[in-house]
Amino acid sequence: MNWNHIAEAITAASGEPFYLQRADSIGGGCINSAYQLLGDRQSYFIKLNRAERLDMFEAEADGLQALAAARAIRVPVPVCTGVEGSQAYLVMEYFVGGGGHSGAAENFGQQLARMHQHTRDKFGWHRDNTIGSTPQPNTPRNDWLEFWRAHRLGYQLELAEQRGGPSSLLHKGEQLIYMMPDLFTDYQPIPSLLHGDLWSGNYAVTRAGEPIIFDPAVYYGDREADMAMTELFGGFSQRFYAAYNETWPLDSGYRVRKTFYNLYHILNHFNMFGGGYARQAERMTEQLLSDLR
Ligand code: ADP
Repeated sequence: MNWNHIAEAITAASGEPFYLQRADSIGGGCINSAYQLLGDRQSYFIKLNRAERLDMFEAEADGLQALAAARAIRVPVPVCTGVEGSQAYLVMEYFVGGGGHSGAAENFGQQLARMHQHTRDKFGWHRDNTIGSTPQPNTPRNDWLEFWRAHRLGYQLELAEQRGGPSSLLHKGEQLIYMMPDLFTDYQPIPSLLHGDLWSGNYAVTRAGEPIIFDPAVYYGDREADMAMTELFGGFSQRFYAAYNETWPLDSGYRVRKTFYNLYHILNHFNMFGGGYARQAERMTEQLLSDLR
């Protein structure tokens, strides 16, 4: 990697001269490798992947921009994307995490509700992106269930079939697609601006105590899908949920639908990593089918 070329690209994009002093590898990312780029006055965060994945980074930069434009929650500001040698890159503002501010969870709950109050008239987004490393189609639709069938649940089930997923899972998934309107008999989702991949690993509190979210898979969809994912791998406090619900209460049917929304992510985990996720997805599907009977 020619870091000097990256420093030049940062200088050109930011309009501020960036004199790179060091590139420190940062662990922790599931999909990409990452570095902190330390300059004499400022730092940047850079993610790298194979050159063919430039599109993924461009979509992520667009997503960060969309979340930043909502001015509800802090996100790292994207600086530039490109290809250097055999690597695609995404550069963004570097933040220092590790803040333990006592009010951060409440602030985050309020801020997320306000972000979700940014709505559109259609579900989807102006471009496709990725969820983890899996393509995530976002072609806009007026009908949420149609969107979820075509671009989320049905799409992941097709990938699972291509991956050789168990036929019992695929069969139950088909049944669920057929029955899913029954989950929405007295609930009308509206197209809210979503982070799209809001597990606790994509949330931090800055040293100044500010909530910050990153690594999004943005689209406009039912806000319950974002809330469901916050519960999938744990990590968010009751104060966060209380503050969210005070700002914009969730519908009581969320308790059942959250499993429906999280099934998308578990199927995606099966499609990315295989293994026990197929069994987990099947158990979730069985649970939903029995709730619907
Ligand atoms: P991946 O796309 O590979 O999953 P992430 O975007 O989740 O990577 O980033 C990996 C880790 O790097 C995160 O867990 C977080 O701790 C840290 N990180 C992400 N973005 C920034 C940033 N802008 N500034 C500082 N640290 C960051």
